[in-house]
Amino acid sequence: MPIQPSAFEIRKTFLDFFVEHGHNLVPSASLVPGGDATLLFTNAGMVQFKDVFLGTDKRGYRRATDSQKCMRVAGKHNDLEDVGKDDTHHTFFEMLGNWSFGDYYKKEAIAFAWQLLTEVWKLPKSQLYATCFEDDKGSIPSDEDAASNWRIQPGMIPDHVMYFGRKENFWEMAETGPCGPCSEIHMDRGIEFCNLKGKEGHICSVNGDCNRFLELWNLVFIQYNRINSTQLDPLPETHVDTGMGFERIVSVLQNVDSNYKTDLFKPALEVIRTLTNESETQMLENFTPYRVIADHARAAAFLIADGVVPGNTGRNYVCRMIIRRAARFGTKLGLHEAFLAKVSNAFVDSYADFFSELGRNRQSIVENITREEKRFAKTIESGTAVLEGYLESLKKTGNNILPGEKAFELYATYGLPFEITRDIASEQSLHVDETGFKLAMDDHRLASGGGKAMGELGGEDARMYSALLDKLHSDNMIGAEGIIHDPYQTSPVQGRLLAIIEDGQLVREALSGSVVSVVVPKTNFYVESGGQVSDTGLIRDSKGSWEIEIHEMRKPAPGMIVHIGEVNFGKPKVDDEVIVLIDFDRRKDIMRNHTATHLLHAGLKKVVGEYVHQAGSLVAPDKLRFDFNSSEALTSDQLEEIEKGVNKIIMEDLRVRSAIKTRDEAISEGATALFGEKYGEIVRTISIVDQEFENKNSPRISYELCGGTHLTQTGTIGTFIITSESSVSAGVRRIEAITGRTANLLISNRFNDFRQLTRILSSTPEDLLGKTRILLEDLNRARRQTADLRSNLVLEKFLKQINDVPIIKGIRVMVTRLDDVEIETMRNLCDQFRQKYLSGIIIIGTVLNDRPLVVSAVTDDVVSRGIKAGDLVKNIAEKLGGSGGGKPTIAQAGGKDPALLDEALKSAFRYIEENLR
Ligand SMILES: [Zn+2]
Ligand SMILES: [Zn+2]
Repeated sequence: MPIQPSAFEIRKTFLDFFVEHGHNLVPSASLVPGGDATLLFTNAGMVQFKDVFLGTDKRGYRRATDSQKCMRVAGKHNDLEDVGKDDTHHTFFEMLGNWSFGDYYKKEAIAFAWQLLTEVWKLPKSQLYATCFEDDKGSIPSDEDAASNWRIQPGMIPDHVMYFGRKENFWEMAETGPCGPCSEIHMDRGIEFCNLKGKEGHICSVNGDCNRFLELWNLVFIQYNRINSTQLDPLPETHVDTGMGFERIVSVLQNVDSNYKTDLFKPALEVIRTLTNESETQMLENFTPYRVIADHARAAAFLIADGVVPGNTGRNYVCRMIIRRAARFGTKLGLHEAFLAKVSNAFVDSYADFFSELGRNRQSIVENITREEKRFAKTIESGTAVLEGYLESLKKTGNNILPGEKAFELYATYGLPFEITRDIASEQSLHVDETGFKLAMDDHRLASGGGKAMGELGGEDARMYSALLDKLHSDNMIGAEGIIHDPYQTSPVQGRLLAIIEDGQLVREALSGSVVSVVVPKTNFYVESGGQVSDTGLIRDSKGSWEIEIHEMRKPAPGMIVHIGEVNFGKPKVDDEVIVLIDFDRRKDIMRNHTATHLLHAGLKKVVGEYVHQAGSLVAPDKLRFDFNSSEALTSDQLEEIEKGVNKIIMEDLRVRSAIKTRDEAISEGATALFGEKYGEIVRTISIVDQEFENKNSPRISYELCGGTHLTQTGTIGTFIITSESSVSAGVRRIEAITGRTANLLISNRFNDFRQLTRILSSTPEDLLGKTRILLEDLNRARRQTADLRSNLVLEKFLKQINDVPIIKGIRVMVTRLDDVEIETMRNLCDQFRQKYLSGIIIIGTVLNDRPLVVSAVTDDVVSRGIKAGDLVKNIAEKLGGSGGGKPTIAQAGGKDPALLDEALKSAFRYIEENLR
């Protein structure tokens, strides 16, 4: 092999080869199979074409090629236990394939395969073997058709065409349905690749047990329909389905003995190695944890990109399990902080060019992985300690199988996935009862009242919550008014856990890691309203044995309030005594922004006009956003005045009062009500009154009807900074601002930048502005000088060329390329040409700001001989992917691709020769 191709090039070469041979390039299907409920993950290339083979679906093409994302971690194909132990297994991998749906058959499929392997990739023909089907049971005819097609391939050694039976060379989708013989291509990589050298009785062979012979490609010929175990009917149309493991072919073409040594894994392994600070030799000596982490980090990234995030059931469980398994192998390398997202990110970098979903979901990938790792970090040590205890006592009893219920207990309480328990047990030569684990899992589901069905949203959801509310009321668990909601209470709320909802169903208890909705009789969590976002926080039982991290609040039915979150650890149960805890630092940030919003609103009225009213608002922990009516943008003076005014009130540290009044009373006192908002008879008002007027009942700085949570003193806001003013829609402007911690952070970051700038420019804070101006003047002067120099050089080149212009059919034709020249200059140069030669054509091409441009001038006598400048440049522009035109004597054109300029200019000669009379 000449130069080692990159994996990216290898994938492209494969796909390009088949596209050139009339195949349609089809994108990879999602890892989540569409419409196939029996399959957890897409595990082969044919999954997305299954219906075409079954005859229930037709495509707009008969030849296809693709690189399919596959996962093999569950069901019949489960490679998980081997991943990491060897150099070839993966949870996630790519499968390259070409397909014929009733189009070409064995002859072409075999020729394509041979040509790609031996001519394009130049694999040595003498090392390749082809296997064909010969029935070991003697009832299905041998595939002589395939065998004879292999034998006639140029350079194929006849002895290398071999026969194997049903296990190796007959492919079936299921018990019944489409099936047929297959042909595999194997490669002899040489005796040095044999990993069983010296083992008694071992002989290296095709389909043998060592690593010397490698299966590269499987070509499946679908020609039968299996009716039952003995009857095969011929299909009306025959199909080809091929699969080539991408990682494997990359390892062959890059000539390495491990998939993990290809450039597919190199960047990620480097990231891990940087974290562990081990040398490459040390890494290769202890390669297993590196392989596991790299494999799982890649799989997790692809899963999350396809919408599969960590969770407790089905696919989501797999995502959780591989992240946790990778994290545990990380601890073996001394990595205890969350690290996996960094590794996944390396895969996003290298794969996103082909799988764009990775790039689009980068943030979600990083966040999900990091969150999952952090959650697991809280319980892994206690979980493994308990497991070690189980294993110790197991050994004492002389038994070597850990009961499934114990493994389930570890998962339910400490979030230790079954697969990790099995890993740890097998490291001590012990086993875990998987069937028992699954039974315990099912028992739990039934005992907790949950079904397997996914919950429904919408009307069902509201009905379920109304019914729950009724039941809680009739059981005297809550009063007639429903859940008590007091977001103004700042001390923690206590009570009993009334209900747990998982997957849309009421359950008695939930497992560690579950996403649940929970109901308590009273809460002080704010539920998003009036622009203020919901609170987050914790609900934990009073004994501290479990904890739910609340990240969302809902009011699914009148009188019902639901906390949504994920179980951090332990098993929440209905009736447990709980404490409800708001994340109070975050709540305080929100309060700063809400009180500041009222001050901003008042400031706008004062500076811009009383007519200003709120048209929308967001009060979040990190910023506030205020939309208001105004036909024009605010000036920077206005913004500065508002900002100063708000900060003045903050420094005066005025009291913020809340009061409950009738709506009419509040309005008559001049309280601001939001336009379009519905208020009840009784309202809550928030007022901020100037110190001088304390106790005098007016005038107020700010007075609003508002149900939000507020500070008690304006001073707590800290600092108020307006960060932007912009337009939202016609007549509506938007101001964004920050306060408190966020504002302080921005200030210190800006000061930091400022200090660095001072250092870089070797200046002092006082001189920085003056010094920057001087530097800019110097730079501009230097730029002007360079431009002058360049135009002199262009002119010099031009003048040299103009004295030596070729003659075509008696006239001067000058074609030249002068880069970075303005149109005006090119036109001037054309004029110079026309002054020098009374009869002639000039064409100047340039690349200016990455765009090709062409200017041409033609003398009058040449125009009358059939060459018009306008037509000439139009002809050139077409070759540049652009357009142009102008007068017969002077014209210009622009194109798109600068790389085509030289070729396009050259074509002008042909045009002139053909059209000049
Ligand atoms: Zn061998
Ligand atoms: Zn408010």
